[in-house]
Amino acid sequence: MEIIFATGNAHKVAEAQKALGNTITLIMPKELGITEDIPETGDTLEDNAKEKSLYLWEKLGRPCFADDTGLEVEALGGGPGVYTARYAGESKDPSANMDKLLAVLDEMERNGEEVHGRRARFRTVVAYTDAEGAVHTLEGILNGVIAKEKSGSEGFGYDPVFVPDGYEGKTLAEISMEEKNAISHRGKAMRALKEFLADAV
Ligand code: IMP
Repeated sequence: MEIIFATGNAHKVAEAQKALGNTITLIMPKELGITEDIPETGDTLEDNAKEKSLYLWEKLGRPCFADDTGLEVEALGGGPGVYTARYAGESKDPSANMDKLLAVLDEMERNGEEVHGRRARFRTVVAYTDAEGAVHTLEGILNGVIAKEKSGSEGFGYDPVFVPDGYEGKTLAEISMEEKNAISHRGKAMRALKEFLADAV
C-alpha cells in the first residue's frame, strides 16, 4: 500500500518508513510534483495535522498523512505547544528556542512561581486521510522534565533539554537514535498509525 507523507524532510520519511514496516511504501509530495509549502495555519496540533493531510488529499485523492509535534510544558499551561518551532521567533532556531525556554523557567523559579517540577511532554498528532477522504487522528506522547541546562549532541530540536521519564538526568540528546525511536512521541504515533492501518485493511 502506498501512502503519501506530508513532509519535505527525508529524515522524517526514513524514520516513519522504519516504524511502519515494508507493507507500506511512503511517498513524498515532491515525488508527485507538489513542491509548495503545505499550509499550516491551525491553533492546535490536531488542526495543523488535519489541514496538511486534507490539503494533499484534495490535490491527489490518495491516502496520505501528516504529523505535527509540540512541546507542552506544564508551567506554561501546555505551551509552547503548536508554537514550539517558532517559540523564540520566526527563524525557528533550536538553540534560541531552548535558551528562551530555560530562561523563562529559571525566571519563574526565581520569582517563586509554580513550575510543576519542570514537567513537560512531547506530543505528536498524526492525521491520516483514507482513500475516501475520511480523516483519522492518532497520537503519541513522551513524558519527562525540562533540564536545568542543555546537554548532549544527538538528535535535534529540543532534545538537549528534555529528560524523558526513567532516564535519570539523561537528555534525549544523550541517548542513541534507536533508543529514542523506541520511546519517542513520534515513534509511538507511527506505531499507532501502523496498528490502525493493519486493522483498517
Ligand atoms: P514538527 O511538527 O515535527 O515540525 O516539530 C515542531 C517542533 O517541535 C520542531 O521545530 C522541533 O523543534 C520540535 N520537535 C519535534 N520533535 C522533536 C523531537 O523529537 N525532539 C526535540 N524537538 C522536537
